[in-house]
Amino acid sequence: MRLQGKLLLLLIPLVGGALVAIGSVAYLQLRGNAERNYLQQMDTLLDQLSQQVQSKIRTAEANLELLAANYLVEKYALVADEAERYRLLQRPLLRSFAGYQSVYPDYYEIRYLLPDGYEAARRVLGEVPNRTETEAQNPFFRNLAAVEDAVRSELGVNPDNGEVALFVGKPLRLRDPSVDPVLAKPLLRGYLVITVSLSQLEQQLLSRPLGDTGILFVADAAGEILLHGHVHHDAAAALEPDHSHVLTAADLRALRGGVERPGRAWLDLLDGPVYLQGRELSPQLYLYGALPVDTVKAATEQLGELVIAITLSTIVAVAGVLFFALRRLVLRPLQRLEAVAHQIGRGRLDIAIASSGSDEMASLGQSLAAMAESLARSNERVRFLADHDSLTGLPNRRLFQDYLGKALARARRHGETLVLLFLDIDEFKNVNDTLGHQAGDVLLEQFAERLLGVLREEDMVAHNRRVPGEMVARLGGDEFIVLLPGLAAPATAAGIAERILGRLREPFVINRQRFFVGASIGITVYPDDGDSVPDLVKHADLAMYHAKRSGKNNYQFFAPEMNAAVVRRMHMERRLRQALERQEFVLHFQPVIELRSGRILGAEALVRWQDLDTGRLVPPDEFIPLAEATGLILPLGEWVLLQACTLAKGWQDRGLPRLQVGVNASALQVERGELSQKVREVLALTGLAAEWLELELTETVIMAAAAEVQAELTRLQALGCSIALDDFGVGYSSLNYLRHFSIDKLKIDRSFVRDCAGVTSQGGIVTAIIALAHAFGHKVVGEGVETEGELAFLQAQGCDLGQGFLFSRPLPAAEFEALLEQQAVGTGLQACAVPAWPLPADAVGV
Ligand code: C2E
Ligand code: MG
Ligand code: MG
Repeated sequence: MRLQGKLLLLLIPLVGGALVAIGSVAYLQLRGNAERNYLQQMDTLLDQLSQQVQSKIRTAEANLELLAANYLVEKYALVADEAERYRLLQRPLLRSFAGYQSVYPDYYEIRYLLPDGYEAARRVLGEVPNRTETEAQNPFFRNLAAVEDAVRSELGVNPDNGEVALFVGKPLRLRDPSVDPVLAKPLLRGYLVITVSLSQLEQQLLSRPLGDTGILFVADAAGEILLHGHVHHDAAAALEPDHSHVLTAADLRALRGGVERPGRAWLDLLDGPVYLQGRELSPQLYLYGALPVDTVKAATEQLGELVIAITLSTIVAVAGVLFFALRRLVLRPLQRLEAVAHQIGRGRLDIAIASSGSDEMASLGQSLAAMAESLARSNERVRFLADHDSLTGLPNRRLFQDYLGKALARARRHGETLVLLFLDIDEFKNVNDTLGHQAGDVLLEQFAERLLGVLREEDMVAHNRRVPGEMVARLGGDEFIVLLPGLAAPATAAGIAERILGRLREPFVINRQRFFVGASIGITVYPDDGDSVPDLVKHADLAMYHAKRSGKNNYQFFAPEMNAAVVRRMHMERRLRQALERQEFVLHFQPVIELRSGRILGAEALVRWQDLDTGRLVPPDEFIPLAEATGLILPLGEWVLLQACTLAKGWQDRGLPRLQVGVNASALQVERGELSQKVREVLALTGLAAEWLELELTETVIMAAAAEVQAELTRLQALGCSIALDDFGVGYSSLNYLRHFSIDKLKIDRSFVRDCAGVTSQGGIVTAIIALAHAFGHKVVGEGVETEGELAFLQAQGCDLGQGFLFSRPLPAAEFEALLEQQAVGTGLQACAVPAWPLPADAVGV
């Protein structure tokens, strides 16, 4: 459900419930008030009227007392003779009555009654016929006769005019002082009665002080209604003065209750139930007010309707106002923000968010805007990182290839040239290994900076401004590439390469240390060196490779032959692997001769590749470097060791002269630190005693990792093997090696032996090496002895051993075995004499 619907569902019950509750409370309160008001009004009215009547009664009673005490009245009462009384006192008495009547016009009848009820004197105001001359039958008179001395007031119907009137009477008990003794009991002489008109009260009752439906009435103690006000509809008939209405006993009980304790009572006087209240006017005389419950209810119902109407309209108004306010302040802004968030979600981050005001919605809008902005920034960053190298900030391989593709398409269209410079930092691995990767990173950054610096300078002179600009990218590791589109002449590329190399001549400063770092640069030119992005990059890489091969820190333009060389190398590598699998290698043995005796004391095992595809016997110089570069030297070296030891042990077992077999070990084998372990295994496997195995290591092997090599040499010697330093003289020929490394033999490189007899300098070196080796206690082998002169020279200098074509070329195992047998047959020393050499060529199989 949408928020709008939820809000409506929430607001209407919330506002409605609250207002209905308030309305109900207000209604109940108002209804109570209205009810109270009605009843209070009636209460007050009854109080007023009862006070009025009571004061009228009290006034009348007081006046009656006064009148009774009047001398004239007393005299009248005491005159027993009727005639005399009438003659003498009638007039003055009536005048005195008239005096009262003039002051109280509602005393419309004042009478003097004889004890038997006969009207002796009567003064009437207005036309009131005297229908009854004696009151003997009048209930009031009968009641009055029972009264001792007090004044009695009573409401009753005046038989003379049929109207309800207030009768106030008093018996006159007098002692006639002229006749009666002083202590004689006063005798009843007659009654004084004032009839008070109640028309004023009646008028008041009739004036509808309780509204159209309420009624005021006066009833006596017997429940007879004596006076009443206006009566509503049908009840009027029942209350007509002719049909006097008598209240039931139940009514009376209720009325009494009301009188004693003013409050509510029910009376079926009118239609339906009524509220009834009463007041005692005098003993036996009561004033009542009756108000139909329906009337009060009708008024409160009206009030209820009003309250309901007000409540409902307030609910509608408040809910409406709240809803519109919420719509304006919350829903609309929310909808706008929702739309914005939707757009942001779909990647549109450039949208404007109008956020005026300072409320939460506005700050939400601002947050959304800030979010979109930061999202846009990080998108940009992500995009940048996807295309750039994080270290140098240069474009990466992906971006470069893309860019080169476009530049190539353009160059194709316009017939322009493109130049690529492929750079690789020389000896970068050394920096990383010795100074750590952090220093390596700093170097890469500085290198990139210099590259850009050179291009910025170049841009001013050589760059043709009409075409897209050059680009420097980092391809990974220490490889960079530079694209130079639209160079005026490819030769300019050489200039740029030179400038780059020139800049590299300045030292790099890393961790306050100065370093000199070079680079090898390969250059390709479109369209000459390739037509596609991969070709151009691959050829530039090849050219760089050749720059490395040709001494590093230089540049090379690509030439198709480079390609051929690499293809050859790859082919060779594949074939070499195959050769290992197919066991195409063979060992040849070249004898090592003791120069003093001419005996074969040892043999060097030299590997050859019997290429089954070509049938050619490939010399080691053609495949050993590749085997070393690819790691194939490890399995190959192992094979050579096993083969050499097996053969040597076989010869020994066949009773041939024992000799030491020399096996060449490459740098990789020694560096791995596994050589001694392998030797141990092979010796154990073949059963050859260690003393018959010699390992030949070159100076470069020893140099590579001196500490590890020394440990390995020690282990080998501990096994019982001997160590020969091969090709001595061509490397660093440091005295240190001779001093520090425990070697047994030193093999003078054949480049020194050659012409040693003829060329003085050569001879001098050989002499020096022999003397040096002997000084350190090493045996010396002269390698590559080809002539008698060389042999004689070596012999003359005390060289211990010799190896060379003069004695024998390296021979296949079988032929070497035959040679050994030959030596064994002629065990005589003459066979070993040096002059026996050279053996006939056919005898050694060369
Ligand atoms: P190297 O260890 O110095 O071996 C001696 C080389 O000199 C051999 O060449 C041998 O044929 C050659 N030689 C001996 N006498 C004469 C001579 O009088 N005149 C001339 N011109 N050359 C002579 P080869 O067999 O071609 O071996 C070349 C190099 O290949 C070896 O030099 C050695 O460093 C390496 N090599 C050979 N076999 C192995 C091997 O099994 N393992 C390893 N790691 N390297 C080997
Ligand atoms: Mg050797
Ligand atoms: Mg050698």
